[in-house]
Amino acid sequence: MAKDAFVTEITPRSQDFSRWYLDVVRRAELADYSPVKGCMVIRPYGYGIWELIQQAFDREFKATGHVNAYFPLFIPEGLLKKEADHVEGFAPQVAYVTHGGGEELEERLIVRPTSEAIIGTMYAKWVQSWRDLPILINQWANVVRWEKVTRPFLRTTEFLWQEGHTAHETHDEAQRETLMILDLYASVCESVLAMPVVKGQKSESEKFAGALRTYSIEALMGDGRALQAGTSHNLGQNFAKAFDITFQARDKSVQHVWGTSWGVSTRLVGGIIMTHGDDSGLVLPPRVAPYQVVIVPIGRDNWRETVLPRAEELRRELAAAGIRVTLDDRDERPGWKFSEWELRGVPVRLEIGPKDIEKASVVLARRDTREKAAAPMAGLADTVRALLDDIQRSLLERALAFRDEHTQRVDTYDEFKQVLDGRPGFVIANWCGTAECEARIKADTQATIRNMPLTATTVTGRCVRCDLPAAAEAWFAKAY
Ligand SMILES: [Zn+2]
Repeated sequence: MAKDAFVTEITPRSQDFSRWYLDVVRRAELADYSPVKGCMVIRPYGYGIWELIQQAFDREFKATGHVNAYFPLFIPEGLLKKEADHVEGFAPQVAYVTHGGGEELEERLIVRPTSEAIIGTMYAKWVQSWRDLPILINQWANVVRWEKVTRPFLRTTEFLWQEGHTAHETHDEAQRETLMILDLYASVCESVLAMPVVKGQKSESEKFAGALRTYSIEALMGDGRALQAGTSHNLGQNFAKAFDITFQARDKSVQHVWGTSWGVSTRLVGGIIMTHGDDSGLVLPPRVAPYQVVIVPIGRDNWRETVLPRAEELRRELAAAGIRVTLDDRDERPGWKFSEWELRGVPVRLEIGPKDIEKASVVLARRDTREKAAAPMAGLADTVRALLDDIQRSLLERALAFRDEHTQRVDTYDEFKQVLDGRPGFVIANWCGTAECEARIKADTQATIRNMPLTATTVTGRCVRCDLPAAAEAWFAKAY
């Protein structure tokens, strides 16, 4: 099988991963910088990926009983201040509106950094009795967190996300919801984004401001750094107490609801780029690819008459079979088009020329392995669908293998530092559970506790740094 690489205009990944990332974002036309520092414009191709991510999650939210709603962008400053930890956690990142309609506002408004405050205020009105529970609401929205250092998709001042906010009768019900969402997140990331994740609980120092417990999914990027790809919080009764969300319980007593909140964001687009991309650019898993197939007509000067009509027929045939397909009929050389679509990560390129038409076949080239093979035109939609499934599967397998190769268990602090100094990745080690040790490890190695997997068995042994008895097995990494 022939293998060709066409793209030459981006910085090689191995040479400068960060430069490579920015080159891919720009050259693949995923996003652009905006006149507002720290904000990005998501271009149609990048937005197309986000829409597919959105749809995949939205389907699962609805299948598990959640409904969508929308709450305002502005929150009166006083509301945010009601929950002390929450305001402390977000205050440095909050943007304020001080004027409106040409006048100074009596009370400043904040632009939501997250919506617990406004949603909690509404739930206090809506909940009277246990019969009103649970409330299972999600919203798709933008939020603003003022950032000093930004990078497209990974950290921007304004970003798009979904935030689920639920209210329950009991702690256990809220805990079940928190973990159910964590599982849902992991499952969509693996099956749709082909991005394997580690599910686990965050340490006290890394948990959401105002939460009882925070859980996260963590993925490993191509440079060995971890990416927090989603979080799910059991809020306990903290926000219910701050916003006075009470209900009459089954035993007639008045109680505070138990809350959860959870979110994934446009950061996942960055995760896809850094999990699958290569030196030639983007590599998209078929399930999040705006175009799963690009048809490139090959031919001499008269290709518009000889090849294009047949190519258009194939486009219609594939589209009718539910495959997202585009036909590149621009007046450019085929080689130029190959490199263009390779850079943009389209999973399958379909080449068709006069000789192929004679043989009633086409050439299919896959982006992930660059393998090319002829395929008969008869039954093409089935062939392409099987190929897309295979690409989706192999991308997940490749990402899993990469993560396994870059995950190491260590027992001594020397080994810990050595591993993090050389090949980055996840390091699994015992931890005593103290914030002091966690901070010291971060200062020494830049690695943070990503999470503590829920599957870990009872921990024996000693903390990798201080030698006190271990409280948990933690996954450490340098992170985005
Ligand atoms: Zn320790």
